[in-house]
Amino acid sequence: MLTSFDYNPRTKLIFGPGAVARIGETAKELGARKVLLVTDQGIVAAGHAGRVTQLLETAGVTVTCFDGVEENPSTLCVEKCVEVARRSSIDTIVGLGGGSSMDTAKGCNFILTNGGHMKDYWGIGKAKQPMLPLIAIPTTGGTGSECQSFALITDVRTHQKMACGDTKAAARIAILDPALTLSQPERVTARSGIDAIAHAVETAVTRRRTPLSGLFSREAFRLTFAGLPRVLKSPADLEARGWMLLGAAWGGTAIENSMLGAAHSAANPLTAHFGIAHGHAVGLMLPHVVRFNAHEPSIAKVYAELGRATNLAPRAETEEVAADHLAERLEQFMEIAQLTRSLKTLGVQPKDIPRLAAEAAAQWTAQFNPRTVAAADFEGLYMEALKG
Ligand SMILES: [Zn+2]
Repeated sequence: MLTSFDYNPRTKLIFGPGAVARIGETAKELGARKVLLVTDQGIVAAGHAGRVTQLLETAGVTVTCFDGVEENPSTLCVEKCVEVARRSSIDTIVGLGGGSSMDTAKGCNFILTNGGHMKDYWGIGKAKQPMLPLIAIPTTGGTGSECQSFALITDVRTHQKMACGDTKAAARIAILDPALTLSQPERVTARSGIDAIAHAVETAVTRRRTPLSGLFSREAFRLTFAGLPRVLKSPADLEARGWMLLGAAWGGTAIENSMLGAAHSAANPLTAHFGIAHGHAVGLMLPHVVRFNAHEPSIAKVYAELGRATNLAPRAETEEVAADHLAERLEQFMEIAQLTRSLKTLGVQPKDIPRLAAEAAAQWTAQFNPRTVAAADFEGLYMEALKG
């Protein structure tokens, strides 16, 4: 069957080692005079924020810095960022860091230009007024947020992760400089890399997948599959860092065009109630979701194609066996990344599962999973993950 789709890339990409040096001309291209730089303390300590500030100032652009971004940014974090932005009457936003910096930058942009609170933008296309231009500079090979129009912000009171999407929130320009990702702490490389692989695998099979999203999913998988073991073994391997950064950007592009699936639905309650980092929670659930989805022959076929394209599964194998090979390899990646696959080790008990499953089934991403996945199915997936 032929699937219809629109493709309207909103983000200009600038890729290459040392590409961050072009931030001045990039900001000028957008007419920037007063920039808000949104980042976190780790990025300041690594020297990246200072360098970007200096490059912008040399180009004649005034910079105000908000360096209070936290992991899984909350509505409170966004409000603090908005306060700083309002005081400085800025005209452009630069998000520098991991997905959390980009999410905070986008969240700030919503409220600064359209007023109200984050919950007013929960869903898609709720912003009525134009938004400020955003430049995204990722420093992790992970979320691919630089290629997405969504801000993921957690409600500080309910712990609910709200996906606030609007085409106007997408970055106008993303600078992908692999050299910036060399400074990632090892655990960030591991978690964000696993998340990037999960984006490739989940987007490849969603109900919303199209021939175009499949193109990005497959290339994201090829790059991150080859890159992750290398960056974990040799953190200074710039070529492999480049594959991870580009793979993450293609994964983000795939999400923008096909959404995500059940591994992400199952991960969010684990992050909310047990503080398990996003990439870890997603990577832990993904092999179980792959085996669950592979019961559907048309989906096993897609998984088999991913496996065969990376020489993971011999061509002679049946699609179900090839899909199982993929699940096994994803489990091995968790081991290489030194992330436990057992929910029990992370403090989850059987009595917690019904509540987690009910919340997972209510997640927005669950509806895009290729196989219908109800609360009872999530209970089964969590039970598997309890054992590891
Ligand atoms: Zn993710």
